[in-house]
Amino acid sequence: MAASCSTRQPGPSAGPAPTAGIPCILTMTHAPSPSSSGSPAAIDDESATLALLEQLISRRSLTPDDAGCQQLIADLLVPLGFECHHQPYGPAGATVDNLWAIRRFGAPGPTVVFAGHTDVVPTGPLAAWHSDPFVPTHRAGKIYGRGAADMKASIAAMLVAVQGLIAGGQGKRGAMAFLLTSDEEGPSIDGTVRVCEWLRERGEQLDACIVGEPTSVERLGDMIKNGRRGSLTGRLTVRGVQGHIAYPQLADNPIHRFAPALAELVATRWDEGNDHFQPTSWQVSNIHAGTGAGNVIPGELVVDFNFRYSTESTPEGLRERVEALLTRHGLQFELSWVLGGLPFLTRPGALIAAMSAAISAETGVTTELSTTGGTSDGRFIAQICPQVVEFGPINASIHKIDEHGAVADLAPLARIYRRTLAALLG
Ligand SMILES: [Zn+2]
Repeated sequence: MAASCSTRQPGPSAGPAPTAGIPCILTMTHAPSPSSSGSPAAIDDESATLALLEQLISRRSLTPDDAGCQQLIADLLVPLGFECHHQPYGPAGATVDNLWAIRRFGAPGPTVVFAGHTDVVPTGPLAAWHSDPFVPTHRAGKIYGRGAADMKASIAAMLVAVQGLIAGGQGKRGAMAFLLTSDEEGPSIDGTVRVCEWLRERGEQLDACIVGEPTSVERLGDMIKNGRRGSLTGRLTVRGVQGHIAYPQLADNPIHRFAPALAELVATRWDEGNDHFQPTSWQVSNIHAGTGAGNVIPGELVVDFNFRYSTESTPEGLRERVEALLTRHGLQFELSWVLGGLPFLTRPGALIAAMSAAISAETGVTTELSTTGGTSDGRFIAQICPQVVEFGPINASIHKIDEHGAVADLAPLARIYRRTLAALLG
């Protein structure tokens, strides 16, 4: 099956594969109809998702090492008619594995993408875990392991959703794709952003994307992220004149110079936010000055700060306002900036309607839209796709010791993804 995959070879479309006789590696019932918890179809969705999740957890895929996860996934997608493009990027020794896989259906329609990451964050001290983080372990209805929630459960559920969709004869129009990277938890330089550049060059039109980040808070389905704030980081160096602390007239203290400007930066309302975003926030992360000696006025002050900004502000506007403020305070300074991510917002439309209805049908939960939290790869995909949302399992244990997820949530998660696909692709 790997022979059907290409490496950075655009190639012709593979065309739909017949649905009969799919060599489905996972054990499942191809039941297109909704099922209630405890029915045979529900149990099979659960066991299929669980089997794949266990295989993924067993792969020690610490960023940027994919550890074979994407090949495992490609081997499942090829028999379903997906055309797979493995796209390794980055320097030797720290290569990032990426996978773009697409399956086109017969009639014209939207391209719907499942996006996610196969990499996981480090375990932390192994002695603190109650079981090996790379040996999937069951305790009291939960499955434990690094990536169990962030985000191997989502990937497994997405695979099972697509298998069910195709086997059930759904998916009549448009196309269905996967965009996976092994560098979401790291620098995010050679991952999703590079694949998005490649897709843009190919002229691939994306219409809707579901990122499988764990967004649920207390119950599966209680929150969808329909956007994220932007992130803009700055480093400010304020220049003074070093000197003896007993002769301040011969020195110029950059800490004293900066203090009133700092007070004004902290007090500034950068914007008021809007219906979807909290107001923009400015925070200092590090501040340093001083030689360590008690009798020396330092010659410079270095401040690291970060904006988490709403769509009411732009990075250019924020940069100009900070520079103008510092200039007005008469400071001698240098500023350098790193734009970590642009904000994005998906307004209620076809994707959010389909996903909200799917969540309600499977769980009875009325979902909440939110743009809170940190950045995700959604920021890159939103540059080439008009509708991007994030949805996945409960996030309470992500990045922690003893990361876990509820086994009972796996089947509903797979079916929420499948219902959403069916609503968009027929
Ligand atoms: Zn994640």
